[in-house]
Amino acid sequence: MAGQESVEANNIRVAIRCRPFSARELTEGSATPALEIHPGATVLVLPVQEARASKSFTYDHVFGFADTQEALFQAAGVQLLENALNAYNGCIFAYGQTGSGKSHSMVGDVHSEAEKGLLPRACLQLFSMLDTARAADARFEATVLASYLEIYNEKVFDLLSGSDRGELQIRSHPQLGAIVGNLTECPVECFAEAHELLDFGATRRAVGATQMNAASSRSHAVFTIQVRMLIACSAGGSVESQAKIHFVDLAGSERQKKSGAVGDRLKEGIGINLSLTTLGRVIADLTKPGTRSVPPFRDSKLTLLLKDALMGNSRTCLLACISPSVFNLDETISTLEFASRCKLVKTNATKNEQ
Ligand code: ADP
Ligand code: MG
Repeated sequence: MAGQESVEANNIRVAIRCRPFSARELTEGSATPALEIHPGATVLVLPVQEARASKSFTYDHVFGFADTQEALFQAAGVQLLENALNAYNGCIFAYGQTGSGKSHSMVGDVHSEAEKGLLPRACLQLFSMLDTARAADARFEATVLASYLEIYNEKVFDLLSGSDRGELQIRSHPQLGAIVGNLTECPVECFAEAHELLDFGATRRAVGATQMNAASSRSHAVFTIQVRMLIACSAGGSVESQAKIHFVDLAGSERQKKSGAVGDRLKEGIGINLSLTTLGRVIADLTKPGTRSVPPFRDSKLTLLLKDALMGNSRTCLLACISPSVFNLDETISTLEFASRCKLVKTNATKNEQ
């Protein structure tokens, strides 16, 4: 295990992405911009409604209409891979209301060169980096494993198992962090294999949602890439290292009151709220100066699973997705405020090598 000296405190890096107006917003007249993006990674919320003053928020990166999937990957994805090859765990969360661009940013159109999202780009780049490392030293060995799960209504489901949608259990291990029992971990040797798993998982997610009469926007999806490496040392012997990167596409963060949920939908809403509200409480506790109590990680599946990404052994990034429209302004401000709190959170990344 890593020595104390290699522990590093890093703030969660925060990027905002504002999607373009949709065709519908343009035709229905709700395309009044609610915000402007300024150099220096600042979002200026305009005083578009009565009694609303303009407000400015600054982050590590802000992406606007013209920014491509590749620009997002260069700013937020490449570093996760470089960290993983240096034996640091990583995590990127996509947060925001339904329709704000979370899935577009994380996965996008896997079949399109230009519209591929962060995750397929990361898979492509990872295999290319591993090929370069092998070419530089024939003794370099690497294994890549992928898993894909979904948390729906406080139940964890495996998106890569071909069989039934049995619920999986999470337990926390003092050194290894959260372990999901019976989760399928598929060895992946090239981008095409990763692509197949992404497609398969997306289909399973859609089938599950149909069976449960739900929309995938109400579940959290977590794709995890694990890299295990054996690196030969010049003095002889070798170093074993490993790292995990979680790509998290969160459920829509919109407040429940808007959805008019009743019955099963309401129950389901409470479940989803539990994971997202617990995430909010954990972030609030982590940013309160002088708080001694343990944040409520154990209160929801999402926070239990991603405890390390929120305060432990990980270099973490939040991608907060927002809509440009006045119509969505309340949710946009709530997302920007959540993102500002996340900026204050520190994690303690440790090199996973021996
Ligand atoms: P979410 O996952 O947050 O619910 P989606 O990613 O499904 O939202 O995005 C909603 C719609 O907006 C999709 O049709 C998507 O293709 C489009 N969209 C989102 N972000 C962008 C963007 N940056 N550029 C172009 N289209 C986008
Ligand atoms: Mg989505």
